[in-house]
Amino acid sequence: MSDNLIKKILVLGGGTAGWMAASYLGKALGSTVRITVLEAPAIPKIGVGEATIPNLQRVFFDYLGLTEEEWMPECNASYKMGIRFINWRTPGAGMARPRPYGRYGDQFDHLFGLLPTHDNLPLSHYWTYKKLNGLTDEPFDRACYPQPALFDRKLSPRFLDGRRVASYAWHFDADLVADFLRRFATAKQGATHIEDKFVAAETDQRGHLVAVTTEAGRRLEADLFIDCSGFRSLLINQVMKEPFLDMSDHLLNDRAVATRVEHDDEHGVEPFTSSIAMSSGWAWKIPMLGRFGTGYVYSSRFTSQEEATREFCRMWGISPDTHPMNHVRFRVGRNRRAWVKNCVGIGLSSYFLEPLESTGIYFTYAALHQLVRHFPDKRFDPVLRDRFNSEIETMFDDTRDFIQGHFSFAPRDDTPFWRACKELELAPEFVHKVEMYKAGLGVDLPVTDETTYYGNFEAEFRNFWSNANYYCVFAGLGMMPEHDPTPLDYRPESVESAEAVFAQVQRRRDELLDTLPPMHTYLRRIHGK
Ligand code: FAD
Repeated sequence: MSDNLIKKILVLGGGTAGWMAASYLGKALGSTVRITVLEAPAIPKIGVGEATIPNLQRVFFDYLGLTEEEWMPECNASYKMGIRFINWRTPGAGMARPRPYGRYGDQFDHLFGLLPTHDNLPLSHYWTYKKLNGLTDEPFDRACYPQPALFDRKLSPRFLDGRRVASYAWHFDADLVADFLRRFATAKQGATHIEDKFVAAETDQRGHLVAVTTEAGRRLEADLFIDCSGFRSLLINQVMKEPFLDMSDHLLNDRAVATRVEHDDEHGVEPFTSSIAMSSGWAWKIPMLGRFGTGYVYSSRFTSQEEATREFCRMWGISPDTHPMNHVRFRVGRNRRAWVKNCVGIGLSSYFLEPLESTGIYFTYAALHQLVRHFPDKRFDPVLRDRFNSEIETMFDDTRDFIQGHFSFAPRDDTPFWRACKELELAPEFVHKVEMYKAGLGVDLPVTDETTYYGNFEAEFRNFWSNANYYCVFAGLGMMPEHDPTPLDYRPESVESAEAVFAQVQRRRDELLDTLPPMHTYLRRIHGK
């Protein structure tokens, strides 16, 4: 065995990113490597980050050998079948209910799962053809997916016997997840947990990190350092001096005010995240058993902390006296390089985008997956490092652009914030995707069917936001393609036979409405209540 193998890894920080890193690397590298997590208990974790996307189970928990039944009850987890965007079209102050607009009010759903296809074309193309020719007034989400009706009735994506009917992700308590992973990594994988504060780092003549020192006088050496110290970015920004690329020219929001609101489960638990447009940003609502987490993400250029807190409290009928408010400042962007010499930034120390599409935790396990694929030895081959950095850059920038599109194409322009969003420049790669969409082409169509797409993380990672995502959001915001999908003009028989697929979606919806249990019932069962 080569003497160059990495033998010691130090993870700085014990938030979600730190414990995800320790457990993922512990699994990937086994007992060949000693992993130590250094965490200052007096420095709080960010304490938000409660909505996820579907590949969390497959790419992260399955990899660790943990079933939903094992981790969900420990983390007060619930299911999420997508995101419901509320009031992104009509003017007005923050309001949790959709304002009047069209048949269903001012709301649309961004759903998980790929679209059905017909004659080798996604159903989105047939819907566009019908819509542009006045043949349907059904919105895209309700015409092409059964899920919006399940949202309305707060139904579970699984039957009581465990069969699943739709792609889903999870809501959970962020602090409980970090605690659960800490117990897993220390008890099951032998990670060492040190509670002490980082104060300084030593580097060698090449500029590689050699050791960190702590407040209690410890000196901790390692071959590889993973910076999970959150927005402080203690190693990669402060010691390695890697510049942070600020991207506030793409996204204006830089603050959040967050709290938890108890709710009466008897009225049901919504199986989706809500994203509610506000005067100067948007608010999330993440339901779980017994409470929902919520936060108003806003731009300090357009509203003050006091004003944002007032609008937020008014919307939920709460007060800072009864509901402690967590005020969070954040930076938007990423480090120029995620991996520098022998230091890799994972989590908030490396990149952050507002949580509009719940991608923060995904970025963490996707980065860990890429780190393991490009794992170095002590020679730190620059080819591995550069490939890893380029994967992280693409993952981040592609999502940044998709999120920016939500603000740019939202019809709202009733406040200075919403007007300013429309003035920001879009990245050229994204402009090209928008042009494709407008021309009636599929945007980043998945190259395989749903089983293969979701069964192969590399395929999903490389084509993360695909046609169905663009359609849900763009058509949901009311931005339609300008042309019919060209092939359909020549294939009236295909348009006609696609009616059977639309009818099948509606039949499936009715069948599920009749048979699925309420989310609340399913969750009580999982949580043994
Ligand atoms: P933190 O949780 O900040 O952890 C930092 C760790 O470093 C702590 O343990 C701290 O003690 C330690 N530390 C700091 N300084 C020192 C020191 N000197 N010595 C030793 N230890 C130290 N993601 C999603 O996927 N979905 C969401 O819905 C979502 N919502 C979000 C909403 C907001 C407003 C924000 C800001 C983020 C959201 N995220 C979301 C992102 C998500 O919260 C983070 O990706 C995730 O929590 C990881 O955080 P972290 O571990 O990098 O940092």
